[in-house]
Amino acid sequence: MGATPAIPIRTESSSTGSSTGSTTFGRLLAPLQVGGITLRNRMVMGSMHTGLEDRLWHHAKLAAYFEERARGGVAMMITGGFAMNLRAWLLPFSGMMTNWIHVLSHRRITRAARQHGAHILLQLLHSGRYGYHPLQVSASTVPSPITPFKPKALTTAQIRSTVRDYARSARLAQKAGYSGVEIMGSEGYLLNQFICPRTNQRTDEYGGSLENRMRFPLEIVRAVREACGPDFVICYRMSLIDLVPDGNTWDEIVAIAQALEKAGIDLLNTGIGWHEARVPTIATAVPRAAFRSLTGRIKSALRIPVMASNRINTPEVAEDILAQGQADLISMARPLLADPDFARKVAEGKPEAINTCIACNQGCLDLTFSNQRATCLVNPRAGYETEIVYKPVAPGAQKKVAVVGGGMAGLTAATVAADRGHEVTLFESASDIGGQFNLAAAVPGKEEFQETIRYYRHELARTGVTVKLNTPAGSDTLQGFDHVVVASGVKPRVPSVPGFGGAGQARHPKVVLYSELLSGAKTAGQRVAVIGSGGIGVDTCSYLLEEHHQPTAEWAAHWGVDLQVSDRGGLAPAQPRPQRRQVVMLQRNPNGKKMGAGPGKTTGWAHKILLKQLGVRMIAGAEYVAVDDAGLHIRAEGKDQCLDVDTVVLCAGQESVDELKSVAQALGLAESAVQVVGGAKLAGELDARRAIREGALAAASI
Ligand code: NAP
Ligand code: SF4
Repeated sequence: MGATPAIPIRTESSSTGSSTGSTTFGRLLAPLQVGGITLRNRMVMGSMHTGLEDRLWHHAKLAAYFEERARGGVAMMITGGFAMNLRAWLLPFSGMMTNWIHVLSHRRITRAARQHGAHILLQLLHSGRYGYHPLQVSASTVPSPITPFKPKALTTAQIRSTVRDYARSARLAQKAGYSGVEIMGSEGYLLNQFICPRTNQRTDEYGGSLENRMRFPLEIVRAVREACGPDFVICYRMSLIDLVPDGNTWDEIVAIAQALEKAGIDLLNTGIGWHEARVPTIATAVPRAAFRSLTGRIKSALRIPVMASNRINTPEVAEDILAQGQADLISMARPLLADPDFARKVAEGKPEAINTCIACNQGCLDLTFSNQRATCLVNPRAGYETEIVYKPVAPGAQKKVAVVGGGMAGLTAATVAADRGHEVTLFESASDIGGQFNLAAAVPGKEEFQETIRYYRHELARTGVTVKLNTPAGSDTLQGFDHVVVASGVKPRVPSVPGFGGAGQARHPKVVLYSELLSGAKTAGQRVAVIGSGGIGVDTCSYLLEEHHQPTAEWAAHWGVDLQVSDRGGLAPAQPRPQRRQVVMLQRNPNGKKMGAGPGKTTGWAHKILLKQLGVRMIAGAEYVAVDDAGLHIRAEGKDQCLDVDTVVLCAGQESVDELKSVAQALGLAESAVQVVGGAKLAGELDARRAIREGALAAASI
């Protein structure tokens, strides 16, 4: 596959560019006093539930996870959410901070952070009607659209005992060595449910007027302050834009923030949108720092420090937010998952060395919301710090390693093996590295994927890998190596349909492979049929219908986001997107329900909405008959039809390219010295997370 030209990443600020820029980071590196503590810089790892919180026997792994990030120079970290009572659980038996056993177990986490100079806060999270269990409670009995349980309204006595539970948990967190707590009041969790008329229909002193609706969180803040004293940091995370009907107005948001400040919080962290909102807020297609203007506005209404969050993934963007006076601290959860050494690299003036979070959610939130341990697509060690260890090779044990394929699996295998001390040569038949990521980066809204290729370019140079481009590996080239990693990837599947161009068949000129289209080798006409509705089918529709680099204002208009929050919830009528082409997407499976959702648990719904906004017609249960000059012939709903299209794009999955395995074995290498990874090993259900993880594990084992 040929490489596509690099697509520059554009940000909202004129003074920031891609993360390879030469900005200096004076503001990001400046210390800051927050309540009773001094932070060594402005970089904070925001709360991210890893799945290691909930069982005490996983806390050693959680401590290693935080220790690695503390060592990497971050100023402060915030844990995943912990419950203060049973009703607060997110899931049955969620992590809690309610007794001395918890305190003792958490001490290893706080020690791990403190020994490297980082502060750590415990997040207190009450899920309210987002709890996935029958004990769930809320302000009222309004059910949540994302859980099957109906909440009970908290009684006044239960509200008071919950306030005490918050204070007691905060006090225990203090005894466990935390510098403070973050009270989770955004993203639609319990405290948000009290604050917003959408979910608060109470008629007592906790419902009705804004003063009543914010009474509960204010009582919690005061109780925590009283229990923990003046030096214990209280951070409150509040929603700056709810993105749901009957959310708060901007005036109310300012009034709540000022009341929280008065009640004694030291730091305001900002949250964007409820979990049930139908607007993506952290996906890769959301412009970087899209919500910074809101943080700037709330900051101008407060005296305490304010923290910006959501889609801030490079130091250039972070520095610019500070420079524009829009925040005092920058919260980056996923970026610190992707690169635990983010802050150190900033301090060393090496932003190009950062393994940038591409906001894919595939390794982190998609797993979290499937009740699996979170990791990171671009950093398989995240959450597995004690299990995936890259040990330096013993002197004299270095091997000559050939890695075949410069896609994600091969790049990871090559750079990890070289970093460990092996002598590595990478063979790539195309003119550039990156493989399928070059195609992904060509999709509007996925420009971030270029950052991973940029990172690997840097890593190849840093670790001293010999890179041979335009060099297909064969029996000659692989002579003399002690170890071969076959990472030759995949090729598009061509179904056996007349005109598609499968084995022994002619390809009709209307038919193109997704790889040819996304690489720019071929173009599409005005009327297009997309065969296949998986992740690549969805990406192909975006490629055909969207434009690169939507500015925030345009993105917000298309999703119906009013960044002024002039009305409740910050919602506005979504503006239609311009119709660039007519696209029909097809699949054989008759179940059209999930059509176009792609594999992402946290992004599938947004893909579906996007395809609808783009006017893509969907046909499920299609039988492909042929392509000829008249168009694509199909049989669907019992009828023969001809779709009059100019172009048919094949997105029907992939097949492995693994011929080199037998070539390598024929060289006489031991079976254990030939490893096949990524798409070359298994094309079905291939994703970059598996490819990178397999590349890493192979290299760690050499
Ligand atoms: P996919 O998700 O497996 O989808 C393949 C599509 O081709 C399906 O719609 C399938 O549905 C159809 N198909 C399979 N065999 C066919 C045949 N013989 N004839 C006609 N149609 C056939 O694969 P993909 O879209 O190529 O994506 C590959 C991987 O890349 C995915 O597993 C995903 O992990 C990753 N990816 C992820 C994203 C993301 O946003 N997270 C984006 C792109 C790619 P029917 O059989 O019903 O027709
Ligand atoms: Fe970022 Fe994707 Fe890694 Fe999550 S999995 S931290 S979104 S790169």
